[in-house]
Amino acid sequence: MNENIEPELSIVIPVFNEEGSLERLHGEIVQCLANTQYEITYIDDGSTDSSRTILTNIQKNARNVRLIQFRRNFGQTAALSAGFRYARGKIVVPLDADGQNDPADILKLVKKLKDEGVDIVSGWRKDRKDNSFTRTFPSKMANWLIGKITGVRLHDYGCTIKAYRAESLKAIRLYGEMHRFIPALARWGGEKVSEMVVNHRPRTTGRTKYGLSRTFKVILDLITIKFLASFSTKPIYVFGGLGVFCFIGSFISGLVVILMKLLQDFSMNRNPLLIISLILMTTGVQFVLMGLLAEIMVRTYHESQDRPIYLIDKIVEPESVKTETAC
Ligand code: UDP
Ligand code: MG
Repeated sequence: MNENIEPELSIVIPVFNEEGSLERLHGEIVQCLANTQYEITYIDDGSTDSSRTILTNIQKNARNVRLIQFRRNFGQTAALSAGFRYARGKIVVPLDADGQNDPADILKLVKKLKDEGVDIVSGWRKDRKDNSFTRTFPSKMANWLIGKITGVRLHDYGCTIKAYRAESLKAIRLYGEMHRFIPALARWGGEKVSEMVVNHRPRTTGRTKYGLSRTFKVILDLITIKFLASFSTKPIYVFGGLGVFCFIGSFISGLVVILMKLLQDFSMNRNPLLIISLILMTTGVQFVLMGLLAEIMVRTYHESQDRPIYLIDKIVEPESVKTETAC
């Protein structure tokens, strides 16, 4: 491969303690992509087994392999994020290092991406080979919930193998466990997303790095992205709205306390509604103040990075400006 030419295709593989599968997987990729111009980026996410040595050997013996070594384990999202940043291909395909994704699907995904002219093709492990109680079932629920909340319905958000147009990854910043939400974030940014059934194979070596706890993280991330997407430029609407809601509750219960005193001579300080009214009043004030603080933070966020609050596809300038710039 000529190193100066940007490759058509970048494969990105996060690795955390996968010594048993790396060599075989690398061999499979090389075989499947024999006639393609591509590069592979392995990210060693702080492995403590012999993965690092194996990857160093693979990198030494190939001309198209990049190796990024993390100082410690930062997680799959961080590893993918680093891989996306350094990948130079026009199309980027991430893949699990454990061999559960089938490299034979890479070119199929790329073909679909090109044929359909979309920005992302997401893999769908229709026949998933994982424990059904701890993995497949929670994943079905999570996919349903993510589809409902984001409005972008995909069968399998958690599937790592996807084909991305490189530009669609540039604008997206990843935190937490958020790599799975890229298709939703991209669709919100006006990109086209489609889906393709991919092969899924059982894990033959090593252990899965995740358990049931991931479902909770996914739900928390989901709340975050929904909040950021809907209100990141106007947080006072959320917090202020909740504040107003509390004020109304406080007013009503305060009124009831007074009416009970006047009409039934019910002692005000023995009435639990008085406490509810006070709590709601304090919470309401807190919400409004939190909203105002969030407004200040949002302004700092957007202005310090010169981030606009909109996304432009294209600007068509008037003829006069075009001729001026052409001169
Ligand atoms: N992985 C990683 N860092 C982590 C956890 C996982 O780079 O902290 C990698 C792991 O090596 C594998 C991929 O992410 O290549 C998916 O992990 P795993 O197979 O454990 O997830 P599952 O397929 O069980 O969802
Ligand atoms: Mg796996």
